[in-house]
Amino acid sequence: MKRRKRGNPALKIALALAALMIGALIAALVIVSSKSTVNIITGQGKIITGEIKDKDNDTAYSYYESGGAALLTPYREHGLGVGMVGEVVVPYAECTSSKIENNLSDPLNSPLARGTVDRIVSVGGTQDNPIYYLESGVKVNGDYLRVTENGFLLPDNSLTYDTAETVNGGVKLKFHTDWVVPVQVTLAPQAYYTGYLERIYNVEAFTAEYMDITFARTHVLDGMPDISASDIVKKCEWIDGTDGGTLRLYLRQTGAFFGWSYTLDKNGRFEFVIKKDIRQDSTPTVILDAGHGGSDPGASNDAGTVIESAMTLDIAKQTADILSQKGIRVVMTRSEDTDVSLDSRIAITRKYAPDMFVSIHCDSAETASLFGTHTFYFKNYSAPLAASIQSHMAQVYGALYAADNAAAETADKGIKFFPFAVTRVEECPSVLVECGYLSNATDCEFINSAAGRLKIADAIAKGILEQLNVG
Ligand SMILES: [Zn+2]
Repeated sequence: MKRRKRGNPALKIALALAALMIGALIAALVIVSSKSTVNIITGQGKIITGEIKDKDNDTAYSYYESGGAALLTPYREHGLGVGMVGEVVVPYAECTSSKIENNLSDPLNSPLARGTVDRIVSVGGTQDNPIYYLESGVKVNGDYLRVTENGFLLPDNSLTYDTAETVNGGVKLKFHTDWVVPVQVTLAPQAYYTGYLERIYNVEAFTAEYMDITFARTHVLDGMPDISASDIVKKCEWIDGTDGGTLRLYLRQTGAFFGWSYTLDKNGRFEFVIKKDIRQDSTPTVILDAGHGGSDPGASNDAGTVIESAMTLDIAKQTADILSQKGIRVVMTRSEDTDVSLDSRIAITRKYAPDMFVSIHCDSAETASLFGTHTFYFKNYSAPLAASIQSHMAQVYGALYAADNAAAETADKGIKFFPFAVTRVEECPSVLVECGYLSNATDCEFINSAAGRLKIADAIAKGILEQLNVG
């Protein structure tokens, strides 16, 4: 573990002066201005020292120090400073790298937790739909942030290890933090390639050896968790970097990782949960998501007689029956022809913290000649589940097109990266399987038959059971 505190001699003097002043001043708020510094003493006894340079050359900065252990969201108490500060006001603010030009969802970035504070370095998007570029290197939709115009550039942070609990092989880690710095989680190393629709996050195989939790502007971790009892991660180390520090958790087995979650607990501590090895789980939970429903019928055949929402519900129910017989706990996002929003499908995943999530859909295309099946993932650690389901789906479709070798091969469209909303969760491997094209006569007839749907359900269940290591 490396410990390093970045110091600034001029700042230390300013802080010392400010500390002297706090004794002398009783007023709740006193501002002392000089040529280049602003010192603020707040009602809570916190000292804030700001050094403000030329506003235009982007070197303006300021610091504050905590008088107590409370989390600091500095702008709330005084609202004085330069530049904008954003605070995340939704539970999970999806973000993407500032380096990427488009605003498409990106699996290399993880959502920022509610309460995360960062300085806004620039604004893109439109006036009605701003996109904020944060100093930690990600950009966030304006709807997810509360923005303060007169915010301070935030100070360096330090973390203190609190507790590590090992529950059934999973781990819950807690850390005290000075303030809620942006956190990013990645599973690496991982090579990606450009595939379907020019999306650049396709993987040949899931190859991660460690999970990196990177804390922006954090250079000190006091204490080190003991995670040796976990069946997923075996050891951890702290790696200090220019922009922040990384807690690296080494996986016991390359490519064996089954999800994580991150929140702030009620005492403002960082809480990370790393999921247990689902292959060791004696009572696994699987969420089956029958696509569409209610006022959203999804796709259909040309005649409008075969409706996706009805097909997916039947396939999901049959898959659930097969899994239940194997002792798997199944949660359905819907079990009738009802409306379920994408948000609530995601909320169900977060609520149940399942071992896996499988969304069931049927395809359609403008061209009636397109046929076959493919399975989509978002996170690299969802690719093994996608591959497992797809291999069984490919057998089903291979049999359907057995009379024509080329067609049988084409019907297996493989596994692909795609940022479907329901699969953009961290909790567990999450995939979306397209069970064939309703716009194609052969596929549609197969899906519309009870025997065909049973074969599809059986293939999905086999893929799930294989991943859960349930025979
Ligand atoms: Zn669909």
